[in-house]
Amino acid sequence: MRCPYCGGLDTQVKDSRPSDDSSAIRRRRICPDCGGRFTTFERVQLRELIVVKRSGRKVPFDRDKLQRSVETALRKRPVEPERVERLVSGITRRLESTGEAEVTSEAIGEAVMEGLKGLDDVAYVRFASVYKNFREARDFEELLGHLAAGAAQAAADEPVPADASPPIDPAPPARRPRSRAS
Ligand SMILES: [Zn+2]
Repeated sequence: MRCPYCGGLDTQVKDSRPSDDSSAIRRRRICPDCGGRFTTFERVQLRELIVVKRSGRKVPFDRDKLQRSVETALRKRPVEPERVERLVSGITRRLESTGEAEVTSEAIGEAVMEGLKGLDDVAYVRFASVYKNFREARDFEELLGHLAAGAAQAAADEPVPADASPPIDPAPPARRPRSRAS
């Protein structure tokens, strides 16, 4: 595994153990070249998934990107990390078991909204407001109508973070050169 800090290829595994829900193996790694420490996860992948974006462009499904989107929507919300992990795993598993090799970015967005709806109202509004883009104000009013007044108020008080984005435009991980502008 290449070191994400210096690019060295000679990194070593220091520790290996199952994640909390045993759906993955965490490996702590260290790079002897630069002393960098990082963690990798080994997970079951039922099938290769390709995401078809609105533009028609196809990109490999990126679980980490999905997880970041969910975590951004849930920022500072009282939701345990294990539940977030289960949500992301559940969405991924569902997408992988549709029997199709390709999945649209819309389908992923809908799945995330569906999952967040059951988990946290504020996160749901945050994600939906970015994902749906709310060009039409009545969409937003309709959505807020489904939510408790308190949760809606909290969402209004906390602006959506600038980096909140739906999983339709996977950004490459930091430190890997950006190969495209999007
Ligand atoms: Zn290194």
